[in-house]
Amino acid sequence: MANAHTETSETGSGTGTEGSAEIGVIGGSGFYSFLEDVTEVSVDTPYGKPSDSVFLGEIGGRRVAFLPRHGRGHHLPPHRINYRANLWALRSVGVRQVLGPCAVGGLRPEYGPGTLLVPDQLVDRTKNRVQTYYDGETRADGTVPHVVHLGFADPYCPEGRKAALAAARGQDWEPVDGGTLVVVEGPRFSTRAESRWHAAMGWSVVGMTGHPEAVLARELGLCYTTMTLVTDLDAGAEAGEGVSHEEVLRVFAANVDRLRSVLFDAVGGLPATDSRDCVCSHALDGIDTGITLP
Ligand SMILES: [Zn+2]
Repeated sequence: MANAHTETSETGSGTGTEGSAEIGVIGGSGFYSFLEDVTEVSVDTPYGKPSDSVFLGEIGGRRVAFLPRHGRGHHLPPHRINYRANLWALRSVGVRQVLGPCAVGGLRPEYGPGTLLVPDQLVDRTKNRVQTYYDGETRADGTVPHVVHLGFADPYCPEGRKAALAAARGQDWEPVDGGTLVVVEGPRFSTRAESRWHAAMGWSVVGMTGHPEAVLARELGLCYTTMTLVTDLDAGAEAGEGVSHEEVLRVFAANVDRLRSVLFDAVGGLPATDSRDCVCSHALDGIDTGITLP
């Protein structure tokens, strides 16, 4: 991060940095480390610290906030990521649309390493993650969020998906349009039986971080889109020794440059924040949540 500078002042939610970005990207440092004029901002939230600082930069005239999902150096396993703090931090710097790329295992032989799949559905098989801001528990600031039940039939932003698919095609990387991402607790990979079961259910790819990221975004009225890069065939879809972490890292590294290109083009293809009219942008219409969003 030679070209980044760090702002020394910490910012709580809504103090000084709102409007700094309109689009958020949750992913590795490989996505922003070469951008010029990246500003590092430390953000605190009512839910504690996000995975890392938020890195503010610009892509094609759009202001973007990058957040390394696993922290710098990848020290946070999927089940220890503070998802609530991450989404809250992004919203507090002005973000209203989020792209959350992630690495996944393919559940069908035809979805081999290097496949880019933009899911339209997800199945939550995580076990021990806080999934809501609206838990009726008094927060540190004394406010009490109401109990809120939001629609989540279509978990991803239709406009964001369109932008992601168009960006992939623009890079000559024909994506799989739609499919189901099943999110497991991890950090271990699936057994063969679990993997075969996931495939038999008709699900497409399996990952560890796509949830509760998606539902927490919805609960904040944020648009959320994921694009998944298949790094391996999951245990039930291949005949070998099963998934290894080394193989996942190798395939991810081999594809990170073009994934970054797709991501940046997708940023440019997202609608203007004020013109959003999707299900996500209306998620909180007419609902009294009991808390003030940043
Ligand atoms: Zn949306």
